Amino acid sequence: MTTEMTRARATSRPSVVARRIEVRGVVQGVGFRPFVWRLANRHGVTGWVRNRGGVVEILAEGPEERLEAFCRALEADPPPLARVEEVRWSEVRPGGFATFEVDESQEEELGERLISPDVATCGACLRELFDPADRRYRYPFINCTDCGPRFTIIEALPYDRERTSMRVFPMCPDCEREYRDPSDRRFHAEPVACPACGPTLRLVDGRGRPIAGDPIERAAALLLEGRIVALKGLGGFHLACLAEEEGVVAELRRRKRRPHKPFAVMVADLEAARERFALSPAEERLLASPQAPIVLVRDRGTLAPSVAPGHRRQGAMLPATPLHHLLLREVGRPLVMTSGNVSDEPICIDDEDALRRLAGIADAFLLHDRRIVARYDDPVTRVWRGEPVVLRRARSYAPSPITLPVAVPPILGAGAELHGAFCLASGTHAFLSQHIGDLDSEEAMRAYEEALERYRTLFRIEPEAVAHDLHPDFLSTRYAEETGLPRVAVQHHQAHVAATMAEHRLRGEVIGVAFDGFGLGEDETAWGGEFLVCNAARAERVGHLRQVRQPGGDAAVRYPWRMAIAHAQDAGVLPAALGLLGERSVEELETVLAQVRGELPSPRTSSGGRLFDAVAALAGICEEATYEGQPAILLEQAALSSATREYAFELATVDGRLVLDTRPIVAGVVKDLVRGRSPGEVAGRFHRTLAAAILEVCRAIRGGTGLSRVVLGGGVFQNDLLLSDVVTRLETCDFEVYVPRRTPVGDGGVALGQVLVASARLEG
Ligand code: ZN
Ligand code: ZN
Ligand code: FE
Repeated sequence: MTTEMTRARATSRPSVVARRIEVRGVVQGVGFRPFVWRLANRHGVTGWVRNRGGVVEILAEGPEERLEAFCRALEADPPPLARVEEVRWSEVRPGGFATFEVDESQEEELGERLISPDVATCGACLRELFDPADRRYRYPFINCTDCGPRFTIIEALPYDRERTSMRVFPMCPDCEREYRDPSDRRFHAEPVACPACGPTLRLVDGRGRPIAGDPIERAAALLLEGRIVALKGLGGFHLACLAEEEGVVAELRRRKRRPHKPFAVMVADLEAARERFALSPAEERLLASPQAPIVLVRDRGTLAPSVAPGHRRQGAMLPATPLHHLLLREVGRPLVMTSGNVSDEPICIDDEDALRRLAGIADAFLLHDRRIVARYDDPVTRVWRGEPVVLRRARSYAPSPITLPVAVPPILGAGAELHGAFCLASGTHAFLSQHIGDLDSEEAMRAYEEALERYRTLFRIEPEAVAHDLHPDFLSTRYAEETGLPRVAVQHHQAHVAATMAEHRLRGEVIGVAFDGFGLGEDETAWGGEFLVCNAARAERVGHLRQVRQPGGDAAVRYPWRMAIAHAQDAGVLPAALGLLGERSVEELETVLAQVRGELPSPRTSSGGRLFDAVAALAGICEEATYEGQPAILLEQAALSSATREYAFELATVDGRLVLDTRPIVAGVVKDLVRGRSPGEVAGRFHRTLAAAILEVCRAIRGGTGLSRVVLGGGVFQNDLLLSDVVTRLETCDFEVYVPRRTPVGDGGVALGQVLVASARLEG
């Protein structure tokens, strides 16, 4: 510093001012206080920082311009996992602090409490993990303030070690020193641990008998021999096996009783991912993100056919925990990594339960002694138009709150049945739960209630009302009834549209397009190809797909050829269609025909999902559906992008509603197939036709209402080909289109919509 400047400073010595600052958002368990400590030291600011409830409170003093720079930096450059929602400050009297301190005392106080979800191993920890000189070399539970378990180990808030499943592991002096040192990257990393003090691994055989040797080396050797190994992960057990060996993958399918639904595949790192999958830069970023989600990506055809039968896209993921990193590196080949359960039951989380329920599936179990407090499956995502989309909200995504367009009273959205999830909301924060599984068993409902109990206590939201689906038999509806709270029933497709509105914080009236497999309508028929005009409170059904019979109800979901017969009969092309479908027994066929003609009772449906089923069956693409949406997914996979023609369709007005007539479409499909056009060509044309038809209905609605915002929802829009085509066509015609990104477009998002609708109605 020059003499000139020193003198200048001395003459106009800046007076010291002080500010009391409050930072709100995701600021606990993310290294926020050490970040503040470092900033204060960098800017020459004194005072203190502490956690109060869910808020970080700072007292900072120093010359005004330094304080100003300090406050700007708080918002501009927070730690990677933090989400700063608000920084508020007020001028206070300076206290004459000489240093900046981290105050570790934590006062209990009411208020919102947000915490980062679980985070995949960070780069710094990964370097230590594979550094032979490091004291945590090859330690499977390495973590720091930027990474590691969070919600899967938290028993209560505020977040500190005493209230996590790490409390049974007292820190050794070395870990304690790191934990207490604000300049250390493990300062207040609650799950901090090392080989001297932390959790340990063990390997047992299928009957629970110990297997000697290094657990990771031995587990890797078993995998390389073609065995199936159950691994205890962050939010539950995984089942792993070699992803390139058809024999073992097929065996896993047989044992898990999961014939077709795709398995996810884990590879060691991005380089290995590039070898197996054709990745865009956005897909690479998503794979390597701190959430380490499953990403649906294009496969290069190197994996066993049974990994994802009939799919061109595969679910790929990178290691989410140090244990995964160690194992993948040891094995040196990609592994199938699927949830540790039988078919669609909730994922196993404790050792005894896993040993019992996965007996006969896993040949060995890689276990550890840190308890999993909460159940989280792996999240499923994809990249759409260069940005991530969450399809299954799970580990590392839930329970980050969604900010609502309006403040709501404490309220619970019970959700639907498939892809069960609830939503607990209060004020402008909506906590949409993780994917719990299909709510069709006692086991699933137990997992649902457990998770709900946790959210209630962690976020301190005591619901005053409960929103639920119109369907009286959904277990989530029954649960809502049992709460004894005031209830609001919300129609399924309205909830789909409202969920997208909530995520995008939309107010006012919009055109809602909700396409899915099934939701009960206000007229008690099955809906699923719906055009609504809605605001937050109310929805009017202004259009829908033409209704057909759904022969045998649920049997038609399992056997898509039944829908093919229903649609073909409706379109007047039954004889030609029968020639396309496989041989059926006369009895079976006669029953279905009687159901279709209305001679035997059978529900009516306007479902878009069921239309996909019909076309997939006619095209010979799906005989039997063993997982939800399978025919539509396979039809999308088969579709040729070179298909340019479209089938005819018609719009009619019936009882004041627009009805999209599917008969010319189905007739066109059958005619093409009879003429020998390829299933891929027909699938491509069908997708284009549906997109064109959706545009036409939206234009007609805009003509009548002047509305030009279109909100999409429902599981059919998981279909990338259809979604992209619909959105592009709508945008070309000057519609504003809204698609969910942070919440699932399918039934996993319904609970969020229920909350928005119910609170608007309660208000009204
Ligand atoms: Zn780390
Ligand atoms: Zn230690
Ligand atoms: Fe739905």
